[in-house]
Amino acid sequence: MHVQLLKSKGLKCTPQRLMALKIIEEKGHIDIDQLFENFNNSGMKIPLATLYRILGELSSVGILHTVTLSSQKTRYEIAKGDHPHFLCEQCGQLEDLHVAMNEIVTIAKHACSYSTHSVSIMLHGICQNCSTFPTTDKEEG
Ligand SMILES: [Zn+2]
Ligand SMILES: [Zn+2]
Repeated sequence: MHVQLLKSKGLKCTPQRLMALKIIEEKGHIDIDQLFENFNNSGMKIPLATLYRILGELSSVGILHTVTLSSQKTRYEIAKGDHPHFLCEQCGQLEDLHVAMNEIVTIAKHACSYSTHSVSIMLHGICQNCSTFPTTDKEEG
């Protein structure tokens, strides 16, 4: 599947590119440090600079989508159309929200006179895991 994806964008199927796609698909969203760590764990050594280059290439042809975060490292995911995200501000977990964006995007585009080329919606908060184990000693029945 990834082989075809690379070929369709005119990229060679190198083991590193395929491994990067495999890991990113498994993890959903990943930053470069986590990806680098996963490469090392898999036994495939790769220089960090090469990894940067691969992510740049895959992003520029549209195979990868980047999620830019103000307080954290950029996350990469396999591109699958615009979707909103939820970011846990405690553990940094990034989740896809399965919500149709068409309506809000249409309204927003009408509200501004600029030409819009991309849209991102990010919800911030505390994920379920973090709210189950609060760091404060406040208890709820
Ligand atoms: Zn969390
Ligand atoms: Zn996503």
